[in-house]
Amino acid sequence: MRNNTKKIMCGKVQIGAGAPVSIQSMCNVKTTDIELVTGQIKELYLAGCDIVRVAIPDMEAANAIKIIKQQLKAETVDIPIVADIHFDYKLAIAAIENGADKIRINPGNIGGDDRVREVVKKAKEYGIPIRVGVNSGSLEKDILEREGGVTAKGLAESAERVVKLLESMDFCDMVVSIKSSDVGLNFEATKLLSERIDYPLHIGVTEAGTRRMGEIKSAAGIGALLLSGIGDTFRVSLTSAPINEVNFAKDLLKAIGLRKTGIELVSCPTCGRTNIDLEGIAGKVEKALRPLDAEFSKAGKSIKIAVMGCAVNGPGESREADIGVAGGNGKAVVFSKGVIVKTIPEAEIVPEITRLASLELQRQKGAEL
Ligand code: SF4
Repeated sequence: MRNNTKKIMCGKVQIGAGAPVSIQSMCNVKTTDIELVTGQIKELYLAGCDIVRVAIPDMEAANAIKIIKQQLKAETVDIPIVADIHFDYKLAIAAIENGADKIRINPGNIGGDDRVREVVKKAKEYGIPIRVGVNSGSLEKDILEREGGVTAKGLAESAERVVKLLESMDFCDMVVSIKSSDVGLNFEATKLLSERIDYPLHIGVTEAGTRRMGEIKSAAGIGALLLSGIGDTFRVSLTSAPINEVNFAKDLLKAIGLRKTGIELVSCPTCGRTNIDLEGIAGKVEKALRPLDAEFSKAGKSIKIAVMGCAVNGPGESREADIGVAGGNGKAVVFSKGVIVKTIPEAEIVPEITRLASLELQRQKGAEL
């Protein structure tokens, strides 16, 4: 059960108040390179990203938001854009005026309360939310001194101060985040904060690292919070292409049972009875099904696919799936809804599963009409 949080709208995406946990990512190309950035946003959107953030380091980037949004609209890519601002409040104001659906600021580095007030005024005028974030590096001096360093209590207190600052400006349209690269600290601080405020929380382990370690840290850090009912939106932060962040985020939600739509792929661990290249096949199936997975999710549909190594447990598992294959010697038996459909050569497994999954999506969509 998710914690009760306030409802915040980021474009058409609801954050908090029981809305599905939304997936975010951040573009890693220049915001001013319109072609590149819109291409990347489109790729992330098609993969299942719900909200995308772009860096706004200068005025040219702030102005680019307008063109990016126009281009995305023309391509019917309907995804909210968050402007990521540091240091310069004028960039935040320009980003809002250019159509950002949300802005992300750290009030501690924007240059004083008066400047924060200007940004808040503009966000109110345009009716958009602000994500306020604190991290290990932005702790106030007095908290650092009192705590003797960065602590969970200190981080939660710093975030609470920011919340109170915005509330004192009569602004409640906010999402709050605490980020640390230390998984335990991140967990404790976010948990503490969730007990004190009811604004939606954007969670994540920041600077989690390269792909493998970053995924492990994110699975542990984000997974633990989500399983505790904490977190309304999140970004898996990887030193890797943003598409990998989105794909991993989707898998994480599925793994902990928060997303029931999409493709569930089951495969056996292989053993001495395996007579096909199951590892290779399962990997190829997973890759080939990525686009369909996003389509299933977007349509609110689901499918279970089993890729099993042999005929011992294989047929049993495969039968429980919507589509299944059980490997033999260089070939495989294909099941559809528990019924053996045919036997195919090993080389045809990947295209056959893709074909059947695609047909199943059409069937499920058609059944709705
Ligand atoms: Fe081994 Fe067959 Fe079980 Fe796979 S399904 S682990 S090949 S017994």
